[in-house]
Amino acid sequence: MTPIERIQTALTNLGLKAVEARLENLLEQAAKSEPSYAEFLDELLGCEVDARRSRYLRARLQLAHLPFLKTFDQFDFSFQPSIDEKQVRELRTLRFVHEASNVILLGPPGVGKTHLSVALAEAAIQSGFGAYFMTAHDLVADLGRAYREGRLDRRMRVYLAPKLLIIDEMGYLPLDEMGATIFFQLVSARYERGSIILTSNKSYGDWGSIFGDPIIATAILDRLLHHSTTVNIRGESYRLKDRRKAGLFPRADEEARPAPFPSSEILQNGPRRQGSAAPRKTGAPLTAPARSEHAS
Ligand code: ADP
Ligand code: MG
Repeated sequence: MTPIERIQTALTNLGLKAVEARLENLLEQAAKSEPSYAEFLDELLGCEVDARRSRYLRARLQLAHLPFLKTFDQFDFSFQPSIDEKQVRELRTLRFVHEASNVILLGPPGVGKTHLSVALAEAAIQSGFGAYFMTAHDLVADLGRAYREGRLDRRMRVYLAPKLLIIDEMGYLPLDEMGATIFFQLVSARYERGSIILTSNKSYGDWGSIFGDPIIATAILDRLLHHSTTVNIRGESYRLKDRRKAGLFPRADEEARPAPFPSSEILQNGPRRQGSAAPRKTGAPLTAPARSEHAS
């Protein structure tokens, strides 16, 4: 065996795949640039460390269960002037994750609530935090099933373990009593231990109707908001931007009677549960946006 062959065998046995793949290249380069022994070793090990780190991040990203991958760079803040960029800059420091405080993104459909949540989750993962994304509906359905099967505590751990839990689309569908109780338990258990990013199309005043009970809604909000940042987005749907440009869809201010939260989200996603779609207001745009545009 030549030394190179022996090195290759050793790298295989040690599982140093990245160095193995780049060995010839690394040696060739070293022959040219003649680095010191330490520099060469540094380059060699760095190559493996980088590869492991990106493998690890990929795995973490997959575990996070994000509906799509979008970053802050892909977010056009000029389209959404109601967003306080200073507030977003502060969130991007991830201090809220360190402090186990919460972020609540409120606003009508299509204004970027999920996009910003995903971007924050991605940043948190890059910084080594565990994150998990779930829609409120799926989360409550999952925990409700676990409860009925007598394994709520064990299942709850899935949602307690990650340092950052993203609960998307709170309030599109009302919760029944069991759902509200389970949600309360989850929020209480994470309180001051792990962050929640929550998105909703409902303002806090309407939360009673999500939970069906103002008392439980107050108890949930109390814990959720104690350490929290609320990002209120009052703008146009980004999804409708291009359609508006093409003149197919009137701007909100051109409508005779604008609906504050048009049901376009439900039209795009389809109702999840029979009878859950909000009644369409007269004067609200009736031309259903194309389903295909929903990026998630
Ligand atoms: P919401 O969750 O508020 O309903 P999303 O975050 O799902 O809205 O946004 C809808 C789509 O529009 C996504 O593809 C998202 O990436 C995009 N989007 C929304 N706002 C912006 C923005 N300001 N700049 C760039 N893309 C945006
Ligand atoms: Mg969304």
